[in-house]
Amino acid sequence: MSVTNREKQMAEAEELLADGQQRRGFAKGLFFGQYLNERLQPYPDLAADQPARSLVADLKKFCKEQIDAAKIDRDAEIPDHVVHGLGRLGVLGACLPKSVGGLEFSQTAYCQLMEVLGGHCGSTALFVNAHHSIGPRALVLFGTPDQQQKYLPKLCSGEWLSAFALTEPEAGSDAANVQTLAMPSPDGKGFILNGQKRWITNGGIASALTVMARTPVANSNETKITAFIVTPDMPGFEVVEKRMPKCGVRGTATSRLAFHDMFVPKENVLGKVGKGLRIALTVLDFGRTTFGASCTGAAKFCVAKATEHANRRVQFGDKLGTFELVKDKLAYMAAGAFAMESVTYQTAALIDSGEDDYMLETAMLKVFSTDVLWRIINDTFQIYGGKAYFADEPYERMLRDGRINQIGEGANDVLRVFSSLVGLREVGLELKGVLDALMSPIGNLGKIGGFASRRIGSMLSSPEVVVRSTELQDDATRLGRLVGQVGSNVERLLRKYQEDVLDRQYQLGRVSDSATELYVSACVINRLDGLVRNSHADESEKLAALRLGRYYLKTAARRVHRNLADMWDNDDEDTTRVANAVLVDPTAGFAVGTSGHGATGHSPAGQKSDGHGAGGHGASGHGNHGGH
Ligand SMILES: Cc1cc2nc3c(=O)[nH]c(=O)nc-3n(C[C@H](O)[C@H](O)[C@H](O)COP(=O)(O)OP(=O)(O)OC[C@H]3O[C@@H](n4cnc5c(N)ncnc54)[C@H](O)[C@@H]3O)c2cc1C
Repeated sequence: MSVTNREKQMAEAEELLADGQQRRGFAKGLFFGQYLNERLQPYPDLAADQPARSLVADLKKFCKEQIDAAKIDRDAEIPDHVVHGLGRLGVLGACLPKSVGGLEFSQTAYCQLMEVLGGHCGSTALFVNAHHSIGPRALVLFGTPDQQQKYLPKLCSGEWLSAFALTEPEAGSDAANVQTLAMPSPDGKGFILNGQKRWITNGGIASALTVMARTPVANSNETKITAFIVTPDMPGFEVVEKRMPKCGVRGTATSRLAFHDMFVPKENVLGKVGKGLRIALTVLDFGRTTFGASCTGAAKFCVAKATEHANRRVQFGDKLGTFELVKDKLAYMAAGAFAMESVTYQTAALIDSGEDDYMLETAMLKVFSTDVLWRIINDTFQIYGGKAYFADEPYERMLRDGRINQIGEGANDVLRVFSSLVGLREVGLELKGVLDALMSPIGNLGKIGGFASRRIGSMLSSPEVVVRSTELQDDATRLGRLVGQVGSNVERLLRKYQEDVLDRQYQLGRVSDSATELYVSACVINRLDGLVRNSHADESEKLAALRLGRYYLKTAARRVHRNLADMWDNDDEDTTRVANAVLVDPTAGFAVGTSGHGATGHSPAGQKSDGHGAGGHGASGHGNHGGH
């Protein structure tokens, strides 16, 4: 990355990060090798929330009777009766205030609803998430009383739908690169918007949209992103494409929009002018938690179905479940789903606690649950074999639906880099403070002494993972040791690369994956600790949870150890060399005449990839390139 780009990115990140909370959250502590027991909320008791339980039961019934996931996928549309039914049940306004007709559910309760939807229909889950989590949520958090009164009641009932429009052709992962421009109108009564948005869920069917656009900063050449409430009746609003045909979640309407000299009154500015990016990131935090919930629902469905099949299908005279390579998958799937459920509700409880620092936790939750779900669906597919390939089973649809999870609301690789940078930044700042202090020790002895004693302390002992049940003591000790090891490796990386670490994405990926496994492990052990001590809990349930949870902890520790080893002994330089060569010539080294999809699928008539020499154009996937 160029120095200017990096400086720009860092300046934006600094602004965002320094804008809010200052207290160190649980996940940030992990980068320091700390286990901040007091920052981990008690694992929520889901059964205790009666209104949520009751709505969960009603929603399950509604899904079974009214939501035909296969038909929604086939027709590429969620029928009105489903939307209205969800509105009647209260799902579309579950977390909104009672004063506007909502149920005022906690994030934990809402996640239970999203889990049901995610386990039943990917399209409906995404539709609700886009409408509820990232639409009205922005209004609740940042809207004025007038704005809330005007929009929320109708959004609650589902009479109006909402959308959140951030993405543009030039602003995907790089959300700060929004080009849509909002210039103050000459009469001072509002803004004139020009620009385009793409891939907006509900974009063409929404009655209220949160739109991100650049506004000029007074007395400067700079522009900053501001959030606007836009309604489709505003002159200049165009739905360029209402429903773009796509791979999965086909029932959702993903739209392209354009704004042509569209006047938006200043009363429709959401939050403060210039603070739109912060609004976007805040509401995405909520959205990411509910991704965890819907992935958990889908994962549990897969575990149940794959197990059923493994217990029934006989090959080579034995049930599939007797083969070790099938067991390997089933164990991963069940433990993964258990861990996913644990991290989802632990993170939801963190949000419900009123803490304001959960940016890292939600990013880790999103990456973990979407990656694990992808593997779980893939493993289910494998266990089902050819049967999964046909559209009379739900797995090919689930595979298509599940793929967006790793891309939307922050592509997973981008979030991995982001969480590492946030974590490393804190450790780096402390190290820098200490290094500066070492340069002029007079007056800074406190800083040096504090750091030195913490370092010496962490060299002598690992952080304590507090569990109250004796039977989890060994697991807790092992986890504490692992946290300490990750902390030491983070510090070693920072000392080795210093500021250059920002560009070392192979290492950032390893740091992020390790910290994520630690965070998920903390959620799992915290949950197990609560369960073991719960005298009302069913004994067989406790044993099953312990089996799954402990298996996750063990396998996670193994993955972390592998990551730490790879930090210091790896093929990174070769990886870069190979990738750079591929970037220059993707066909080099392949056999003569190799062709791919592009050659047969996209070549203009009469062109053949054979005869184009080494590699053929097919390898690039675009058989009509190259001026032939
Ligand atoms: C079905 C669907 C629904 C959507 N709904 C909405 C919506 O309602 N509202 C909305 O605003 N947007 C929506 N989006 C857009 C979505 O949020 C973006 O697709 C997402 O942010 C990623 O941007 P991009 O696709 O342009 O990927 P790009 O930014 O082009 O990135 C492509 C890939 O490059 C890699 N990459 C990019 N940057 C980096 C980096 N710095 N480091 C390492 N790797 C990197 C990642 O692997 C990434 O997956 C939707 C998209 C889809 C497909």
